[in-house]
Amino acid sequence: MKIALFWHRRDLRQHDNAGLAAALQSGLPVAPLFIYDSDILDYVPRPHDARLTFIYDHVEQLAVQTEQTGGVFLAHYGKPVSIFRQLLAKYEIGAVFTNEDYEPYATQRDTEVAQLLAEHTIPFTAVKDQVIFAKNEVLAKSGKPHKSFGPYRDAWLAALLPDMLHPFPSSELFTQEHLAQLPDVPARPTLEDMGFERFEQQVPVAELPPESLVRTYHETRNFPGMVNSSTRRSVHLRFGTLSVRELMRQAQKLNPKLLAELVWRDYFMTLLWHYPFTAHESFEPRLREVPYRNNEEEFQRWCDGQTGYPLVDAGMRELNETGFIHNRARIAVAGFLTKHLLIDWRLGERYFADKLLDYDLALNVGNWQWVAGTGVVAAPWFRVYSPENQLQSYDPNLEYVRRWVPEYGTNAYVAPVVDHKFARTRAIDTFRAAYRAAAQPS
Ligand SMILES: Cc1cc2nc3c(=O)[nH]c(=O)nc-3n(C[C@H](O)[C@H](O)[C@H](O)COP(=O)(O)OP(=O)(O)OC[C@H]3O[C@@H](n4cnc5c(N)ncnc54)[C@H](O)[C@@H]3O)c2cc1C
Repeated sequence: MKIALFWHRRDLRQHDNAGLAAALQSGLPVAPLFIYDSDILDYVPRPHDARLTFIYDHVEQLAVQTEQTGGVFLAHYGKPVSIFRQLLAKYEIGAVFTNEDYEPYATQRDTEVAQLLAEHTIPFTAVKDQVIFAKNEVLAKSGKPHKSFGPYRDAWLAALLPDMLHPFPSSELFTQEHLAQLPDVPARPTLEDMGFERFEQQVPVAELPPESLVRTYHETRNFPGMVNSSTRRSVHLRFGTLSVRELMRQAQKLNPKLLAELVWRDYFMTLLWHYPFTAHESFEPRLREVPYRNNEEEFQRWCDGQTGYPLVDAGMRELNETGFIHNRARIAVAGFLTKHLLIDWRLGERYFADKLLDYDLALNVGNWQWVAGTGVVAAPWFRVYSPENQLQSYDPNLEYVRRWVPEYGTNAYVAPVVDHKFARTRAIDTFRAAYRAAAQPS
């Protein structure tokens, strides 16, 4: 009997899942599949990885739910194309469904899998799920992506139709009669099988944030010291344990500011899809040759939260200890690294990639390039925030700083790694010179 596979990737949920709903409506019995991709995991230092532990736990939950409903769940470790070859040899596969993924690696991987399936005349259907608008759906009049957020957001809101935020009926369709039964399903790999050990970091439950938090979000979101400052749902959006539509529906009803932040997410995903090279190169051609200092000792002080600037240090220590860092602190630490220390944004981006539980290539690169002034959408390169002013604006009562830098205000606190005024002038001069030199016709 022919089956359809539904390949989970960054959509680790049964409910409101566009691709899963499409598979369950295909008329073929469905076997959900997850592949622990060795092409990715080979680069992850073993044995502790909080992201893999998070993924593993949610895959196991999905598998148990599937088995309890009377189906089978396939989980494998290896290269996706090789795993598909094995599955093709073993089962009669009539179709493969998945949700679109817009990162450069993912698009290449999906092209290879689609080619392999095409050789067996098996359709590969990838549907839009993790964003509302993707690829070319919201463009400027020029036919190219918007270069600033305001016009993008306005066009996004104008294009939004009510049914675009409706949930897909995947959990309603997820019944025994729609699921495949297969013989000899191999045991799912454990963390230990893959060379890892459990490493958990605290995350809020995969549920919508409380209504009270969402209602006041616009007032609290800039204060990292507040307990319920922002939704803390980024990790769930990253791995799809929450549907972006459900969060957007709540935001649409209760708080337009939160909806706008979620629109930033669509925007950065669209930008990376259009300009995949920006994952490792500045978008702005005139800022590709900035003579960054890249001083190793100063970089280490930044990583360790020992710069002598308390908001920066609090942010880096929060990141190192919890795998999360508040948005305001992300902006402060990224600005400090790229402007005050004149260290290449790519080094900061990679450090975040190693540490963040919610790490998302499109959002991380987009935001780093925004702060550094080098992106498609960018803060002006000559904007160099004062860390002291930021502290007064966003942590006036030092709640955040006292939590993460308890020695602040005592002799034990480290002296500033660089003087703000000196660093500001140095950064502006350096960026200006690079900008002008690149603008000269050669
Ligand atoms: C240098 C830098 C790097 C970043 N790297 C990442 C990253 O790797 N992964 C990530 O998810 N976010 C990243 N962000 C964006 C933002 O800081 C986080 O999404 C946010 O702090 C997550 O906390 P929250 O869920 O409480 O956010 P909330 O303020 O509650 O926002 C809700 C959701 O809106 C989206 N969102 C909010 N702010 C942004 C933004 N600036 N850009 C895009 N989407 C946004 C996120 O999906 C977020 O979960 C980065 C920001 C900066 C300045």
